Amino acid sequence: MISHYFTLLIGAELFQNIMHIERESKLRIIKKKFTLLLLFFVAAIYNISAATKGLSINEPYIIVIDPGHGGGKIGAKGRKSTEKDIVLDISKKLKTLLEAQIPNAKVLLTRTTDIDVTFLSRIQLANKNKANIFISIHANSADVDIRVRNKNGKYVNSVRRNPKVRGTETLVLGFHRMAEQDVAIRENADLLLEDNYKEDFSDFNPSDPSSYIIFQLMRNQYRRESIKLASLIQGQYVKSAKIDRGVKEQGLAVLSKATMPAVLTEIGFISSPEEEEYMLSAKGQEEIAQNLTNAIKMYKEHLKI
Ligand SMILES: [Zn+2]
Repeated sequence: MISHYFTLLIGAELFQNIMHIERESKLRIIKKKFTLLLLFFVAAIYNISAATKGLSINEPYIIVIDPGHGGGKIGAKGRKSTEKDIVLDISKKLKTLLEAQIPNAKVLLTRTTDIDVTFLSRIQLANKNKANIFISIHANSADVDIRVRNKNGKYVNSVRRNPKVRGTETLVLGFHRMAEQDVAIRENADLLLEDNYKEDFSDFNPSDPSSYIIFQLMRNQYRRESIKLASLIQGQYVKSAKIDRGVKEQGLAVLSKATMPAVLTEIGFISSPEEEEYMLSAKGQEEIAQNLTNAIKMYKEHLKI
């Protein structure tokens, strides 16, 4: 952004120079023109290098993959499996594909086993390693926890199943329309179980409108790129005939401290028996990992234009 202002300033000075052309000696004009031309080239080179930051041939392209949940935090529950296991399997396959198909890709996983990792250390791994992109992988659920009366008249926990809801969606950080943020409520739930969450996320309150404004200002530079990456991911899911629930903005804690384009993708509904089967199958896992690899490849390419 700064380099654009730099280019504009030089452009303005060049204009002024032409306006005063008659008052200057020929030699001085040539010298000044040459200096300005040189500055113009420097600005142009700076512009190009800023737009393709991290994309030079020898520099690694750092991708942080975040398999959601883990350990005691199981995420959503299907009939046969849990979200934490499915997303770990797919994240590992994704790492293999990315390293095989993207030159110079350096892929880091926030967890490689069934362990509990705090929200802060997930995003810190990406920030510390100056990752180019951060992708958190999750599975969705449309089941609703309810309280019902059993035979003896006592209230017990139960689940109202919604097996027909299916599809994929990819989320970026946003703070508006809080009432509709169903995924954010579910995906942020783990945070409340962490010991230090109040200190670690003291500036994060998705229900506070002033947080929204602060985060919008802070994250605007990454917002457009995050939406671009999210759109490319949804585009690839659609190519594999998956239902498209779109790109959404929600108040997601895990993305709130990212200092790079960051998305959270919901690869399917574990509450749909059909989609759970697909996400558990070798073919399904391979396809999802390939969808994400293709999207990342396209995202990386678009930065070169
Ligand atoms: Zn999740």
